[in-house]
Amino acid sequence: MTRSSVIAVANQKGGVGKTTTAINLGACLGELGLGVLLVDLDPQANVTASLGFDKRSGKPSIYEALLADVDLDGILIDTGRPGLWLAPSSIRLAGAELELMEMGSREHQLRRLLKGTAKTFDLVIIDCPPSLGMLTVNALTTAEGIVVPIQCEYLALEGLAQLANTIGMIVETLNSSLRIIGIVPTMYDARTNLSPQVVDQVRQHFPSLLFRTKIPRSIRLSEAPSYGQTIVEYDARSAGAVAYRQLAKELADRLKLQVG
Ligand code: ATP
Ligand code: MG
Repeated sequence: MTRSSVIAVANQKGGVGKTTTAINLGACLGELGLGVLLVDLDPQANVTASLGFDKRSGKPSIYEALLADVDLDGILIDTGRPGLWLAPSSIRLAGAELELMEMGSREHQLRRLLKGTAKTFDLVIIDCPPSLGMLTVNALTTAEGIVVPIQCEYLALEGLAQLANTIGMIVETLNSSLRIIGIVPTMYDARTNLSPQVVDQVRQHFPSLLFRTKIPRSIRLSEAPSYGQTIVEYDARSAGAVAYRQLAKELADRLKLQVG
C-alpha cells in the first residue's frame, strides 16, 4: 500500500469515545469520497460488532494477520458503506498482547501488514484498545498521527500526560514522525458547567491541537451500534451525525486530504 495517511484513535482511558469516533469518522470520510480502511485493533472488537459483523465468526481477523502469517488482503471486509473497508478484530486478539511480546520486531507487525496490502486507501484509521500495551504501540509505530478523544468530564486531562509520555518514547525510538493531529472533546453537554470547563482546559494546554468540532452527548450515537449502523445510517440528521461530518472535514483539512 502506498502513500496513505495512517491515523490512530487513541487514549488509554476507557470509554471516552475512541471507537465511536473511529467508526463515524471513517463513515463520514467514506461519504466524502475517500477510500478508508478501519483497523479494529481492540480485542473487544467493538468496531467490528458495531458495523454489524460477528467477532466470534471464526473468520481470519487482524489477530491471524498479526500473528499467523495471513496477509491483510486475506482478512479485509467491504463493509458495504461508501468507501469503507474493515480489518476486523476477533475475541482471539485478547491473546495478542502476550504473543507479540515473544516476537521479533514485535512493534512493527502492523506496519509490515499495511505495507503488504495490494489495495490502496486514502486513509487508514486504527481503533486502539484502552491501554498502552503492545497493540497500541504497534498502532503508534505505524501511524503518522493520533486523534485523541477526550470525554468532557472530571479528570479528563489526567491521562493526557501519560499518553504524551508514551508518544515521546515512541518518537525517540520507533516513529520519529508521530504527532497528535488533534484532540476532540466527546460527550459534550452544553447544559453542564463541566463540559465547557474541560474544553477550556484543553484549549489552554494544547491551543493548536483542539479541534473546533465538539461531539455532543447524544443518545442516538450510543444507540446506533446496537443496530449495526453508523450514525449517518441510523440518524443522518441527528446532532451526532452533523458533528462527525464536521469533524471529518476538519480532519481531512489537517491531513491535507482532497475531499469532494
Ligand atoms: P473503550 O476504551 O472501551 O474502547 P471507547 O473509548 O472506544 O471505549 P466508545 O466505545 O466509543 O469508547 O464509547 C463508550 C460508550 O459511550 C459507548 O456505549 C458509546 O456508545 C457511548 N458514547 C460514545 N460517544 C458518545 C456520545 N457522544 N454521546 C453519547 N454516548 C456516547
Ligand atoms: Mg473502543
